[in-house]
Amino acid sequence: MNILLIGPQGSGKGTLAKKINRDFGLVPISTGDLFRELIAKKEKLGLEAKEYMDKGLLVPLELTLKILKARLSQPDCKRGVMFDGFPRSIEQAEALKEITNVDWVIKIDLPYEECINRMLSRRVCKGCGAIYSTTTYSSDTCEKCGGKLVQRDDDKLDAIKTRLEVYDKQTTPLIDFYADRLFVISSQDDPEDTYKPVKDFLKGKMK
Ligand code: AMP
Repeated sequence: MNILLIGPQGSGKGTLAKKINRDFGLVPISTGDLFRELIAKKEKLGLEAKEYMDKGLLVPLELTLKILKARLSQPDCKRGVMFDGFPRSIEQAEALKEITNVDWVIKIDLPYEECINRMLSRRVCKGCGAIYSTTTYSSDTCEKCGGKLVQRDDDKLDAIKTRLEVYDKQTTPLIDFYADRLFVISSQDDPEDTYKPVKDFLKGKMK
């Protein structure tokens, strides 16, 4: 079974993906994370993508499909995957149709204002990638590995605004595209409460 997570940036898709992966074994595929890995390794594709990412713009489709197909060809994906951040437009959804099926789409609702606050306070460990919020964690060192906590280049206000505009214009049309397989939740509550209905839903579908 393949599922897809749709929601504005900062709505908690990554946190939800970790819980679904823990309980159901679906392999999380975040195109944003794949790009960031390539950037960390200073690979050409990653550096090309970074120019778009830093501005909050979508990376061109050809490049995005290249990294997505490479990831999907790995053996662990046979168990079923969970797309996070792909597709982000109707064009990408049409392209995905040619590659694999999407059984269920989980849409996460959170007001844009709250998404902005969450992204502005997000810090990421340079060492292990752990994510923190300055609202609950005031140190600039990771408590897991001692790495330095930094703000993502695209978690600055200008890029955040562009990312949410792109989401609003290009990604929200996917809600109609996938209307026949949509499950909607709100991530206003704490992460465990957000996850509970998703867990019940997926349990029912995986029987
Ligand atoms: P994310 O971590 O999902 O917010 O992604 C960070 C950035 O990576 C986005 O703002 C885009 O620049 C790029 N990106 C991630 N996924 C895609 C995608 N499906 N299509 C195009 N660009 C993407």
